[in-house]
Amino acid sequence: MKVTFLGTGTSQGVPVIGCDCQVCKSLDFRDKRFRSSIHLEANGVSLVVDTGPDFRMQMLRAGVKKLDAVIFTHEHKDHTAGLDDIRPYNFSQQMDIPIFGRRQVLEQIKQEYSYIFSTKKYPGVPQVNAIEITENPFRVNGLSIIPIPVLHYKLPVLGFRFGDFSYVTDANFIPAESMKLLEGTEILILDALQKDSHISHFTLDEAVEIAQKIGAKKTYFTHISHRMGLHDQIDRELPEGIALGYDGLEITLD
Ligand SMILES: [Zn+2]
Ligand SMILES: [Zn+2]
Ligand SMILES: [Zn+2]
Repeated sequence: MKVTFLGTGTSQGVPVIGCDCQVCKSLDFRDKRFRSSIHLEANGVSLVVDTGPDFRMQMLRAGVKKLDAVIFTHEHKDHTAGLDDIRPYNFSQQMDIPIFGRRQVLEQIKQEYSYIFSTKKYPGVPQVNAIEITENPFRVNGLSIIPIPVLHYKLPVLGFRFGDFSYVTDANFIPAESMKLLEGTEILILDALQKDSHISHFTLDEAVEIAQKIGAKKTYFTHISHRMGLHDQIDRELPEGIALGYDGLEITLD
């Protein structure tokens, strides 16, 4: 299994438009964060979790030639705004692309992309096959996926576990039953926005505490704000086995 961090930034991305802070001005490539998303390849299946506004550049940068599915964590725009750019995969693969999400996520997508779902479609619009998922495990071309329900303030969000790898973004609360589902995960990607408290995201300290409870061999943080601080500086402060994610980072698991 290969996982690529396509984006590790919060909703505005890093740098933020018009911001002159040291992080936004940093020349370190790890301080340049597209909106949060991952690409996962396993058993010949190629999928992305979320299609944020940077989806097109992410696919170009990671060189993703084939896409079997999109899985949505939740309906926020920083996770859905790039969906129109799946069209090249429609053309090259000559098929509808399955998109998986909970009912309220698919309903929101159907509203925001009404032209995709219209009965009278303009030629060349994205072709998708919306597949509703629940909290029950599901499969994508034989690859088994376990949803991990979490809360993002009051909004239900799904994390996903793929074998020994788990991805949990946009959360500030993980219920006990979901902590159980994360037990034994070897690699974990977890939401950590910034040091200051926030209404809907884990802070750095909260994320470290949760990561240590889950006890993965390696935890990487994502959905990072420019207010977190410089990648290099913050990464050094983290306990062993915990690191900040950065765009382009690749992880290979057996
Ligand atoms: Zn988000
Ligand atoms: Zn800034
Ligand atoms: Zn969100």
